[in-house]
Amino acid sequence: MNPTRPLFALGLSSMLAAGSLPCAVADEEVTPLEPSVGGPVFAGDAPDETHPWAVHDRNRPQPVRVEPGTFSSHDTPGVPPSDAIVLFDGTEESLANWESTRDDGQAPMEWELVDGALVTEPRTGNIRTKEHFGDVQLHLEWSAPEDVSGSGQGRANSGVFLMGRTEIQILDNYDNPTYADGFAGSLYGVNPPMANPLRPPGQWQSYDIIFRRPVFKDGVEVDPGYFTVFINGVLVQDHTPLEGGGGHMRRSEPREFAATGPLMLQDHGDKVRFRNIWVRPLPPRAVEGGTDGQLSLEATAAKRERIAAGIRAHADTLEGRAQMLRYLESLAYETHDDAMEKVDAMTAAEVESLQGLSDDELEQRKGQVRELERALHYLARFNALPEDYPARVAIDAIVEQQGWND
Ligand code: MG
Repeated sequence: MNPTRPLFALGLSSMLAAGSLPCAVADEEVTPLEPSVGGPVFAGDAPDETHPWAVHDRNRPQPVRVEPGTFSSHDTPGVPPSDAIVLFDGTEESLANWESTRDDGQAPMEWELVDGALVTEPRTGNIRTKEHFGDVQLHLEWSAPEDVSGSGQGRANSGVFLMGRTEIQILDNYDNPTYADGFAGSLYGVNPPMANPLRPPGQWQSYDIIFRRPVFKDGVEVDPGYFTVFINGVLVQDHTPLEGGGGHMRRSEPREFAATGPLMLQDHGDKVRFRNIWVRPLPPRAVEGGTDGQLSLEATAAKRERIAAGIRAHADTLEGRAQMLRYLESLAYETHDDAMEKVDAMTAAEVESLQGLSDDELEQRKGQVRELERALHYLARFNALPEDYPARVAIDAIVEQQGWND
């Protein structure tokens, strides 16, 4: 048999021929869930040009298990989630994760460990992590002195700088007005927080920050980068664009960031305490080569090829009808010459075995026939097999002859 190749397969082939795709690597582990838990096969909308997975795709990897941590109380810092990189946990050892920014990290760090807290030593300079990070979820807690002094920007001013260059402000604004875009929780110089949920000085404040750095391609900004920030559980920055990252006095312009940078804490001349600092690096966005979400045409095609290769590899471990159905399933992701040849042969043999049966014998196999019918119709609906695919025509004839649609 030599069925007409479906349209979308031609699309993939021409992209491959044009050399616009990276070489497909069969590195996709595709372990399907059983339909009883993963949902029916040949059911949800198939992969398309920008979605490499079907809707409700049972082949899609399960989310990685993370043991959640605990929330902090005033007296006790919470426990980070199991996959967090702990940067400061109140111990001497975790202090070794940090260095002074002075003399390119060679000057001694003079901030101190006091009662399990990391405390600024005013006018000794900023500190930064030795390890560098890009996009992260960040948690930190800070506390202003109970004994209030100064006003405006001069009251327990510090700040956390993502990648060492863009600041989320730390400031005791509990009862302390200042310019709005320099408030606690502001993206400093760019955007004020949406609310002021600070606790009184002396109490611990929680910052939960999701940071996405800007992404440039060939010198052009394709994603401005974003901050989402919660203070004490209250949303204060909602996917706020970086606009270059902000700064003092001057409006920042979009600019390229490095891939990673240190997390930096600011010495603004005031005493501020810190505790419970951890990060979770985030997976790449679709725009920078990530493979979840809505992808580019090229990334989708490449991902679909890897998924299809994984399904074919799994099919090769099966036998009989299960193998035939698994090969059919692979066609929803990629029309592949070897897979098509196998599907042609296996479906032809299946049809032949059915055509020799009596009505009673066919009735015994009704479930199997209708399962194959569903697969062939599904693949035709999403242009992965032609409408006049021989096995489909033959199966439709059997279904009609048996009156199963009546
Ligand atoms: Mg500051």
